[in-house]
Amino acid sequence: MERLVRSCYKQGGYVFAKKAGGPAHGAGNERIARLASNENPEGPSPAAVKAAQEAVLFANRYPDERVDVLVSALRAHYGDYTFVAGVGMDGVIETLMRTLVDPGETVVVSTPTFSFYGLAAQAQGAKVVPVPRRADFSVDTDALIRAGKDAKIVVLCTPNNPTGNATSAEDVRRVLDGINGLLFLDNAYVEFSGIDYLPLMKKYENLVIGRTFSKVHSLAGLRIGYAFVPAWLQPFYLRAGTPFTVNSVSAAAAAAALSDTDHASRYIRQVKTWRKRFAAELKYPVLPSDANFVMVDVAPQTGDEVVEKLAARGVLVRSCRSFTGLSDHYIRVSIGEDWENERFVREANSL
Ligand code: PMP
Repeated sequence: MERLVRSCYKQGGYVFAKKAGGPAHGAGNERIARLASNENPEGPSPAAVKAAQEAVLFANRYPDERVDVLVSALRAHYGDYTFVAGVGMDGVIETLMRTLVDPGETVVVSTPTFSFYGLAAQAQGAKVVPVPRRADFSVDTDALIRAGKDAKIVVLCTPNNPTGNATSAEDVRRVLDGINGLLFLDNAYVEFSGIDYLPLMKKYENLVIGRTFSKVHSLAGLRIGYAFVPAWLQPFYLRAGTPFTVNSVSAAAAAAALSDTDHASRYIRQVKTWRKRFAAELKYPVLPSDANFVMVDVAPQTGDEVVEKLAARGVLVRSCRSFTGLSDHYIRVSIGEDWENERFVREANSL
């Protein structure tokens, strides 16, 4: 019966990071250092937990379809912008593709990068065109504009997963000026970069900026993301989206998490400290990062080999092999708690 499955799903799909509980458990390590998925190692803000507990008492009711509690909190926090929400930023990306892309239309993606843009575009029958970054992983804006001029959507991730580097607001502006379609700017890691892309939102009608509560806000398990969108897009996004897609517990938790700036600042400080320490203490080249992870060049070993060896020593990191357009000798390492980062440095240096 497999012949019934669409050809785009016969192979491929999203590659998940290693789970705690694989080979790492067998190694007799009681605690596993979980540095594979770019999560905040600290639990959610107490304010978010309380809001979730209160909201769950009303879970017999359908959620607000416009996610007003979150949109109001976002407006209070960021100012007068138009927002949409989704089941993680993944959900936002999926709905955006569904809203805008017809079969056969082009979606251009700056690569190597996060894989879900291509998968979500493919699901709409889009033609996905990768535009490789330069050798130092900076974005070749001229090449991106040439390929993306008449595309429906151009996707740019900054800071980029998995390379970690950010693209300047000036380069983003250049891309916006050069294309006729929409630019989706993935800002999943922007809180760690210090770059402010929001002024572009006021000026451009063709910009969507995606954000998530999965990283700095410690809510990866509640699956909630959002985007700054131009006002014209919001009603169409709501029309294309799955009804009631964002649940009321996640929305309440996210709204509360936004106001706990101490919680976010603590992890941002940790990230800034450890980006420097990884670069100084590892025996391998560490790429400059504006995110809460670093990409490490482990040549002549492969990323897969190093991931396996580290897992056996109780450290989970991510091999970059699955990122199309990247050679096989890189790993991506999230910044966790001190003991996790210290164990990673010790074990990686002893390989
Ligand atoms: N964009 C990037 C660049 C990511 O790395 C991730 C998560 N790994 C996402 C989007 C999706 O985030 P969410 O958990 O909000 O779906």
